[in-house]
Amino acid sequence: AKEKGRNNYQFYSEEINAFVKVQAMLETSLHRALEKRELDLYFQPQVNTKTGEIWGMEALLRWFHPKVGNVSPDIFIPLLEDTGLIVEVGEWVLLQACTQFVDWQSKGLLPPNTSVSVNLSARQFVNCRILDAVSLTLEVTGINPECLILEITESMLVEDVRQAEAILGEIHRLGVKIGIDDFGTGYSSLLYLKRFPIDHLKVDKSFLIDIEKSKENAAITSAVIQLAHALGLMVIAEGVETQEALSFISDYECDVYQGFFFSMAISRDDFTELLLRQSKT
Ligand code: C2E
Ligand code: CA
Ligand code: CA
Ligand code: CA
Repeated sequence: AKEKGRNNYQFYSEEINAFVKVQAMLETSLHRALEKRELDLYFQPQVNTKTGEIWGMEALLRWFHPKVGNVSPDIFIPLLEDTGLIVEVGEWVLLQACTQFVDWQSKGLLPPNTSVSVNLSARQFVNCRILDAVSLTLEVTGINPECLILEITESMLVEDVRQAEAILGEIHRLGVKIGIDDFGTGYSSLLYLKRFPIDHLKVDKSFLIDIEKSKENAAITSAVIQLAHALGLMVIAEGVETQEALSFISDYECDVYQGFFFSMAISRDDFTELLLRQSKT
């Protein structure tokens, strides 16, 4: 048994070695990617469930590696977080997203009250640098603060509650909106919905997938929509892939949805085309 244990250990350590190597390689190319501008911002449309109009868009990072091809954010975002690069990249994302938004708006392509959502990483949330980044972005782009939604996750609120409260309070004072991403997948202490200045809840896509087959998913999704409304919050459903999922959330009067049923995240040019098509109909 002892020997087997040792072999096992060797096996794992080789695997870990290989993993560390791949990670190191990706990290090196990530630095190059930033210089070569292989990172780009895509936008996923968000739709008003009642009217079918474009309600907003979520900015999502994409990495087109010249050799490997498209690297998933689920792989490179954690790398950016480990290296701390996410802070700079996150500020770039914020500025790019708002600049693009204001550009569409100034061309008259956006319906009134449209908003742009930007994801924040926990690493951006540990000090007041995020406040400077947000103020600077508002100043430089001239975006109406009410059009900007910052998406944070539940876990970011429980780490340092006082700090989170201070930062969110300050962001809110600037007029910027706050949304809870992946709601229901983290520490769901419902207390913080009362404690923090939150405007939107996003139902995690894992609850929407197979909603027509899973009683549990249906129960969770409808309960989250009702909870949000009872608290005066807006609800956004993500991961709406089918007509069935859309009908389900419509029945519960979920305000907004995004998902492959309408569109995946698309390039700026494709988004511009989409807006042009929409403004003609
Ligand atoms: P997220 O914030 O929960 O973003 C939603 C994810 O769901 C996106 O994946 C989107 O493409 C995907 N999605 C949207 N509709 C559907 C659907 O109908 N079906 C399915 N199966 N998926 C759908 P993506 O773009 O791969 O991003 C993954 C995660 O990476 C994001 O999850 C977010 O946590 C992180 N991320 C992406 N961009 C940024 C960024 O600029 N900053 C930070 N901090 N994180 C980012
Ligand atoms: Ca998000
Ligand atoms: Ca999400
Ligand atoms: Ca996520």
